[in-house]
Amino acid sequence: MLKKMKQLKFSIKEGSIGWLEWNNPELTVNLISSSFLKELSEVIKKIESSQIKALVFVSQKENNFCAGADIKEIQNMKNPEQIRLVLESAHLVFSEFEKLNFTKICTIDGACLGGGLEWALCFDYRLVSADPNTKLGFPEVQLGLIPGLGGCIRLPKLVGLKKALELILTGKSVSSRKAVSIGLAHENVPSLVLKKRALQLAQQIIEGKAPFNPVNKYKNKKPFFYWMEFFFKSLICLVFKKKSLEKTKGFYPAPLKAIELIKKTYYYPISDKLLKKEMSVFTQLLQTPESKNLIRLWLLMDSAKKINTVSTNYKPIKKIAIIGAGTMGQSIAYLMADKGFQVRLIDNKLEALCESLKKTRKLFEKQKRLRKINSYELENRFNNLSVSQNFSGIKTIDLIIEALPEDLILKQKIIKEVSKKAKPECFFASNTSSLSILDLAKSSMFPSHFFGLHFFNPAHRMPLLEVFIKEDQRETYPQILQFIKKLGKVPLFVKDSPGFVVNRILVAYFSECLNLFEEGYEIESLDSILTNQLGMPLGPFELMDKIGLDICLQTIFHLEEKGIFFKRPGWLKTLTVVLGKGEKSKEGFYNYKEKIKIVNPKINSLKREKRTDFMTDKQLIQRIINRMAVEGKTLIQNKIVQKEEDIDLALALGAGFPAFLGGPMLYSKKEKDLL
Ligand code: NAD
Repeated sequence: MLKKMKQLKFSIKEGSIGWLEWNNPELTVNLISSSFLKELSEVIKKIESSQIKALVFVSQKENNFCAGADIKEIQNMKNPEQIRLVLESAHLVFSEFEKLNFTKICTIDGACLGGGLEWALCFDYRLVSADPNTKLGFPEVQLGLIPGLGGCIRLPKLVGLKKALELILTGKSVSSRKAVSIGLAHENVPSLVLKKRALQLAQQIIEGKAPFNPVNKYKNKKPFFYWMEFFFKSLICLVFKKKSLEKTKGFYPAPLKAIELIKKTYYYPISDKLLKKEMSVFTQLLQTPESKNLIRLWLLMDSAKKINTVSTNYKPIKKIAIIGAGTMGQSIAYLMADKGFQVRLIDNKLEALCESLKKTRKLFEKQKRLRKINSYELENRFNNLSVSQNFSGIKTIDLIIEALPEDLILKQKIIKEVSKKAKPECFFASNTSSLSILDLAKSSMFPSHFFGLHFFNPAHRMPLLEVFIKEDQRETYPQILQFIKKLGKVPLFVKDSPGFVVNRILVAYFSECLNLFEEGYEIESLDSILTNQLGMPLGPFELMDKIGLDICLQTIFHLEEKGIFFKRPGWLKTLTVVLGKGEKSKEGFYNYKEKIKIVNPKINSLKREKRTDFMTDKQLIQRIINRMAVEGKTLIQNKIVQKEEDIDLALALGAGFPAFLGGPMLYSKKEKDLL
């Protein structure tokens, strides 16, 4: 058997400074795993006998300190006893390290998340690089968990109750600048000199000339705020509990458990007893169905993001033109400019371009306000964007994305006109929701360069991207895959089919709800059942109003034209005439003219059955989700998507299907098993 390569390398620099390097040779990122902990335990013994006076810890990975705990290893831990033993041994090693009686400095360059940040909290000093990739955070709640390696116990003592709750409950990470400002890190240093600065700091500490107090305790750093938080702890926790319940509607147990645990433990000194309390909550949560489903989706997402681009011999995509500066074009343009591409946004309406520039500027300014970027980065990224009312300069563009209205004739006309002016090697993508990519490709001068990129609204926030590229395109044009990788989205590779996956299943969902409405069920009650009992962010009728009834109908009828039929009420074709276009026209299923939305009385003019016998709420949910699952199965049979897991991931990321339920395919299967 091959001997596993070592992750940790210990050496001594300048006579008395320990230098500990971390590099997992088998992975692209470092993870807290049982093999890491075992090595750490061995290294601690070595360090103890080395007589060093200070220690510097560095990660050798580019842009990564540690991506967190090894989720696959956690997922494989089946029984609570096994989980308890692993956690106990991890705590033991961390505590042993923390108690070493010399100064320990941790350098963080790149992502430092979850278990990685819990490890970093065991050091006396944290120096963080000023690189934008340096992010510190606890994403555990997104997996239905809480930090389980001492994070819930150590963090509040370092940054205070409020900041700790904010970090743990939102799961959001903070930049290095923010980390210093809230007391999570000590110094923000340019990436290039981070190791040098750590060595210098170690030397200063040994010489008794430390520039700042190593005391980590919030209580000693900010006594006034500490005592304020202490007296108002119940109120602070109550506010966080209320906020959390508003956001999660109580479907996610982890945030509430975290609040309870932190409230009970934050003012006591760190002890085995407190760590055991955290361990017990973590173990309980790990066995909940919510956490199991969230971990499953996370692993699916992680594997979807791993795109292999084997060849390196290609010219990368740098300059992008987006045609159509409407809802989608504007947000795609912002996303691209933010990712460092040079973007030309084209629209025949000057107002649309002016509006886009204004919105883009606002979005960059928001990033600056949140300290995600500085003024220099703001100007730089904003300057990546230029606008035009015509196609001048299109010859220099590497990729054109069309975000024109969903009109086949218009799209075909513009694709033909623009591809004539573009260079032959230029790529062309369409953001269409329901038209066929292959049909659109026929209008291009270079159909073999044409592919589908279906972003979700708003493109800069929604993580999913449905992609249609033919097998041969993937091999011949690796720059497309490299471009997709650079966007940082979760790509779902699909076959060319109207509506791809998400819209096709959404249409099935909407049509089933419309049928139920026609059968005599009330829209308010259906919306309430699906939001309050199933956990959908919006009810189906509220969602249709939000998307726009015209857009929903257009998609349904485009699919029908392509032979994809859904059972639906006969009056659907005239729905926008009877009700309106939804929220944007102030009238749809609901009326939005007043502050509080009310059911639109015009729905009474739609033909519906008079009903006396009603299904239970559970039966209604089952019927609706089963309809989605049936459509999902059809997509798999027709090879539009490969696996049920892909559908679950797509619906959770692209349509807001409650992630804690794991997706419609899994949910319908589990419900069937229970019957
Ligand atoms: P939109 O109507 O908001 O924007 C279209 C833009 O195209 C408008 O600014 C219009 O002025 C411009 N335009 C029209 N004709 C033009 C021409 N000849 N030359 C240049 N510009 C022209 O549309 P949208 O909602 O942004 O949708 C765009 C595409 O994205 C559609 O294919 C739609 O199906 C798809 N899509 C939309 C959403 C969504 O939620 N809106 C989501 C995913 C995909």
